[in-house]
Amino acid sequence: MIKLECKRCGHKLDYACPALEWETVNSTERQQGDEVFLSAQHAFKCANCGNEMLVDFSCSEYMPGEWNQGETVVVSGAKTIEDDCEFKPPHQNR
Ligand SMILES: [Zn+2]
Repeated sequence: MIKLECKRCGHKLDYACPALEWETVNSTERQQGDEVFLSAQHAFKCANCGNEMLVDFSCSEYMPGEWNQGETVVVSGAKTIEDDCEFKPPHQNR
């Protein structure tokens, strides 16, 4: 769960981590295999004023099945009050 505050109207909302569509953005060869970087964006509107918000998620997988701690960044429209989102992309087929 992420707690956000709308930058336009100050409305506070609980943002439940949604099902995301992850995209591979990069991969790096490392000693024990590739590290794959993934990101996902989710845009939505403030229920109170209709302000558009965009949240950006990213994380990486090094060794199949091992996720590095991901990051959640609010790109626009809102301020993060608390970020307690546990998200995991589906594992990559390779
Ligand atoms: Zn708002």
